[in-house]
Amino acid sequence: MKKLLTTLLLVLLCPMFSPGWGYFGHKVITQIAVYSLPSGMQGFYFRNLNRLVQLSTAPDQRREIDTLEASRHFIDMDHFGDDPFNTVPKAWDKAVAKYSADTLRKYGTVPWVVLEVQNKLTQAFRTGDTTAILNLSADLGHYVADAYVPLHTTENYDGQLSNQQGLHALWESKLPERHIGEYKLMGKDAKYLKDPQQAIWEVLQQSYGFLGATFDLEEKVGRNFTPEQKYTFSHRFGKTRRAYSDAFADAYHKQVGGMVMFRLQLAPATVASMWLTAWQDAGRPNLEKLLKKPISKEEKEKLDEHLTAWKKNQLVPNSMLLGQLKEKPVEAPDQIKPAADMAPPPVEAAVPVATPTLPVTAPAATPEKVKEKTKTSNGKSKQKVKKAAPANDGWN
Ligand SMILES: [Zn+2]
Repeated sequence: MKKLLTTLLLVLLCPMFSPGWGYFGHKVITQIAVYSLPSGMQGFYFRNLNRLVQLSTAPDQRREIDTLEASRHFIDMDHFGDDPFNTVPKAWDKAVAKYSADTLRKYGTVPWVVLEVQNKLTQAFRTGDTTAILNLSADLGHYVADAYVPLHTTENYDGQLSNQQGLHALWESKLPERHIGEYKLMGKDAKYLKDPQQAIWEVLQQSYGFLGATFDLEEKVGRNFTPEQKYTFSHRFGKTRRAYSDAFADAYHKQVGGMVMFRLQLAPATVASMWLTAWQDAGRPNLEKLLKKPISKEEKEKLDEHLTAWKKNQLVPNSMLLGQLKEKPVEAPDQIKPAADMAPPPVEAAVPVATPTLPVTAPAATPEKVKEKTKTSNGKSKQKVKKAAPANDGWN
């Protein structure tokens, strides 16, 4: 009975303490974006590094409670014909005039969401609203990172139209989680973007350009595998689920690993450039004044240590990648303190709070988000919903 009660309590408490693991790519990109910032911004962002990394997966978590959130993470460019980047107007108003807002929402709005959040962040810098700055910076980083994933630019987003289901999680989660130790993570510094709209469309166009290889190389590598070698099958709630095997993932990595690394390596500088542009457009407010405590000598040294490790590509061997660190374990019921004793989570968390694990260990599985498109009765209009599935997925 005691055991049952303990289990029940843990089940009930887990959502409150949900560690949000498995969104590995977003966490890596957000962390490195902080390293890419100029010194006038870096102290503030580094003080809040843990919080930002934690918040970087919030937009994906929102999809579970907000049906309007899903379409903010992608844009199905191939829906718009053979030359979509010259067909879809880049400005929201012009695109709405051509296709209607409903159509755009159906096929995804990520480039416009990036600009919307970037404008809100500019406003947050103007008013000095620390909470909004952190939340919006994390959101902006998430949407920019999504634009770097080729499969976020196509209707065949999971290979479901070409018998390659599971490709999404393979590309953006399984490959980086398994092979991050082989990636070069050092990248460029942030720069002011004269035209953020142009910048995000260029990112999407590059992503779109990688789609052919993403699909073709899966097919090519698959020729050397029997179905039993290529997939693993799991059964749950009467359903069989197919996922790519580790052996296939590693063989596919040999073909596309450079491309995955390239996208993961470029994204942080664009995220940081978007933050920098918002800050500069807001008149470069003094962010250190927003901190409750001034930046200490120890913090400066810690930041230098992080920057050195990043520049030498030593974040993974030095166990400094926050996405690879274990978060605090869920408290057992007998350790739970009365509500009055529990402090709210600090906005300015110390760096790092986490416990190192082995450098190349993949994060634990979290509920997978899978885009699902359903046709309505007339067979024409489609509605997209995100569905939680029991597997590991991440950069989505
Ligand atoms: Zn996303």
